[in-house]
Amino acid sequence: MRILMVEDEKYIAEAIAQVLRKNNYSVDLVYDGNDGLDFGLTGIYDIIILDIMLPKMNGIEVLKGLRKNGIEAPVILLTARGETEDKVNGLDSGADDYLPKPFHTDELLARLRALGRRKSELINDGILKYGDIAFNPQTLLIFCGNKESKLTLKESQLLELLIKRNGMITSKELIIKKLWGYDTEAEDNHVEIHVSLLRKKVNHLESQVAINAIRGAGYVLKIKEGD
Ligand code: CA
Repeated sequence: MRILMVEDEKYIAEAIAQVLRKNNYSVDLVYDGNDGLDFGLTGIYDIIILDIMLPKMNGIEVLKGLRKNGIEAPVILLTARGETEDKVNGLDSGADDYLPKPFHTDELLARLRALGRRKSELINDGILKYGDIAFNPQTLLIFCGNKESKLTLKESQLLELLIKRNGMITSKELIIKKLWGYDTEAEDNHVEIHVSLLRKKVNHLESQVAINAIRGAGYVLKIKEGD
């Protein structure tokens, strides 16, 4: 797996890269936003680790540039203390995860493993799978073991989005755009209502999958530990 790391604090970047290489990742390091965008646009990276505060061009702009040009590699944003606004901004601009600084390299490795693993668990014959649930977007039926439940259209769109986000955080903003379109009066509480309805159905199936709310950021599918 090839990783691009964009971080201007060179000694931190080198130290992290060393740990990643020891764990069998190929790592390319660049130290400013311009290079970050140039390297990222090559499209050769499986994951991009992107600091927000960077010389020449900040991380959010780099991220927007990548997404605008069709680069879909998962992006982990590195946020400093007090950059909550940037975090939300980043998730809305297409980041998949964020890691507040300072972090332990074990935490970063865990995130990377999770992002790598997710790729393989997705679609099979049009059936979406996540953890122990399977969902058929054609029939709106959701299965877990020998139980099944029928979703409404909005619930199914929501579940499909969360599954496709593949364990990454999905902002309310993005949910609104996906479920109701750009020109809409739908608000956060619409999202909350549909999440709560969907969560009830998933819980009813006694699934190990949970829809977790991440305060100030959005929602994420998690697989509960120990079944
Ligand atoms: Ca920085």
